[in-house]
Amino acid sequence: MDEMGHPPDFLHYRLESKPNCPLVLQDLKELSEGLEGRSSNPVALLYDILNHPDADTGQDLPSLLAWKNHPEQHLDHVVLGRGPPGGSWQAMEGDVLTISRGTWMELANLSFREWEESVCDRQLGSRQKRASVKNVARYYHDYVDIKGLRPYFRDSAEVTSVRRVDQLKNGSNENNDRGLWQVTGHIRTAEGLEDFQYLTPNVVLAIGGSDRPNRMNVAGENLPFVVKSLQAMEQLISSQQLNSRSEPVLIVGAGLSAADAIIAAHFHGIPIIHAFRRKATDPSLIFGQLPSNMYPEYHKVYQMMKDNGMTYSGYTPMEQSQVVRIQNDGKVCLQGPECSTRIKVSYVVVLIGSRPSLSFLENKGRDLTVDVTKPISCRNNPLDVDLFTLESTKQPGLYAMGPLVSDNFVRFAQGGALAIARDIHLKSCPFESKEEVSNPPILHVPQESVNYLDCPA
Ligand SMILES: Cc1cc2nc3c(=O)[nH]c(=O)nc-3n(C[C@H](O)[C@H](O)[C@H](O)COP(=O)(O)OP(=O)(O)OC[C@H]3O[C@@H](n4cnc5c(N)ncnc54)[C@H](O)[C@@H]3O)c2cc1C
Repeated sequence: MDEMGHPPDFLHYRLESKPNCPLVLQDLKELSEGLEGRSSNPVALLYDILNHPDADTGQDLPSLLAWKNHPEQHLDHVVLGRGPPGGSWQAMEGDVLTISRGTWMELANLSFREWEESVCDRQLGSRQKRASVKNVARYYHDYVDIKGLRPYFRDSAEVTSVRRVDQLKNGSNENNDRGLWQVTGHIRTAEGLEDFQYLTPNVVLAIGGSDRPNRMNVAGENLPFVVKSLQAMEQLISSQQLNSRSEPVLIVGAGLSAADAIIAAHFHGIPIIHAFRRKATDPSLIFGQLPSNMYPEYHKVYQMMKDNGMTYSGYTPMEQSQVVRIQNDGKVCLQGPECSTRIKVSYVVVLIGSRPSLSFLENKGRDLTVDVTKPISCRNNPLDVDLFTLESTKQPGLYAMGPLVSDNFVRFAQGGALAIARDIHLKSCPFESKEEVSNPPILHVPQESVNYLDCPA
């Protein structure tokens, strides 16, 4: 990258060799070869380098991508989601600030900054580059309307089963030789549940990584005073079930969600006991990796953790400690580095990460991960996919993106969408892949080449 945010020379030359060819029709493997950055998915890096040039060195340069709508290239599709557009952002605590800059949260061809200026009063300050979760959720919701995508979205839709239907083939299209997927579930309406069923050659899993909170696997974990989200804790505070006169709240974990919980509880004067497995000075804790001028609130928590409760009244850190048992009477047994302790608490807030739920797939998707002997983990055991198409190496026609393939930041998840869109497009129109080298874009994709059946049950 030079100071103008131009891509590296080798990428520049590769792009120059096909100046009129849309990215979605180019050889993404060739383009992304040799790129380095904070994603292990090469197409994610390619997209990010073009969309947020030099972002990792702190630059905030304009995108190098230009967007053109080609309605004739449209692929029939539907987006099924439990809630409104915005996925897990709609379920997060709204007042918290994102770790990422606002511009890194934006989607294709709609400036987050311009959108934000048009809809809300921005409060400028030292953290002005970061957006509030509330605004990000609203931006994603608005994006769908502004970009005319609403007809493709089915909100309040729960997918309960995704199964291969190999015997079902549509003779008119050779793409179906690999079989179809049957996707079933229900939509929640004012009248009740309505079943749906779709048959499609391609399914994209974009279910994020926060459906199932990680478990501590200790006795008493399911007791009613044990909660597993920041939102649940906020509800307890707003309903006054948890307040400054309560017994201490035990917050377990040392990630950013645990830090958010500490900030919220501290703000309301609630006494806190904070248990975490590592030493407070462990360099692998996330806090040490965040610049203090951008993330002062997390650095404050970091300081509190290292301070051993000397300066901050109402906050007691317990480093190298693990919960071993939670009792009905509100007492929690903790094992520390030297001894075990039993403490009385009002609530236990467990924020130790989460994982996706693939319960709607055959065998709960267990055979789709890199290491099939271990449970899925966005960080350590993602879905095993082809690096350049994000298609499952084990199930053709099944794709995965975002946290499921270890792209835990919105910035990188979008390159995954590019890789998938390209692959599905070329499957639907195989001639383009052969001709792309010599001829720039072929703009006419016959509608009938897209095999998609919408069959409400
Ligand atoms: C607390 C927290 C803070 C974060 N902060 C940042 C940040 O600052 N910057 C950043 O870039 N990233 C951040 N992330 C990560 C970011 O949220 C994800 O990278 C991003 O949301 C992934 O988008 P997605 O669409 O793949 O999944 P999600 O946003 O998780 O959306 C997936 C959706 O699929 C739905 N779903 C799952 N199963 C089914 C089913 N069977 N049927 C129907 N719907 C289903 C889920 O309910 C969910 O709504 C944060 C994540 C968390 C948890």
